[in-house]
Amino acid sequence: MKNLFQLILLASICFTSFASVKEVQSYINSVKHYELIDDQIFLEKRSPMPQELRYQLTLILLGPLGDLILRVKDQATLEFVEVNDPRDAFGVNGNKIYYMKSVLPWYTSKRDAGHLPAGSYMEEATLGTLLAHEIGHTEVGRLALGLPIINSYLRTDIGNGRVTFIFSREMVRKEELRAVRLFENPYRQYIGIPLRESYYKAGDVTVH
Ligand SMILES: [Zn+2]
Repeated sequence: MKNLFQLILLASICFTSFASVKEVQSYINSVKHYELIDDQIFLEKRSPMPQELRYQLTLILLGPLGDLILRVKDQATLEFVEVNDPRDAFGVNGNKIYYMKSVLPWYTSKRDAGHLPAGSYMEEATLGTLLAHEIGHTEVGRLALGLPIINSYLRTDIGNGRVTFIFSREMVRKEELRAVRLFENPYRQYIGIPLRESYYKAGDVTVH
């Protein structure tokens, strides 16, 4: 049953129509952009979208995911926050994607921390592949592909004056592998770079 569902989903991605340049530009013009003006308290202010982001977003939206994302624009749209610290980059809150224009500082910090197993092909990552992945964690991404929420929240522990949120590792893992398989890899294929075969460990991503 699960395989059948995946097959239908993949077929719907394969046979999707592609958005026009005009539709994509109109979507991007409506996207809200912010910059982080205080890293400590995550204070943001509205700012114009930088050209680098506009360019990468155009590529994504002209690609296999674009038409599906545009179709749900009346329900939910993407937002972007430019950050300064690689530790704050490439994460999601609702439909807000936190990013930085330069991929290199983020890549270097991940590589040096030993978080890139063989077959991740993150040395090939572009701003676009990282954004395509993050879209997979947004409500927009889920609506676009008709995917259920993977709820990883388990409980909140309060002790010694500290609040700690506990998440299910297994659910987080499912969410990450889904983002790679259904969002990042179709975009990688579209721009012609190696598909990501690894997230946590070598070969843990199903590559079709
Ligand atoms: Zn992720």
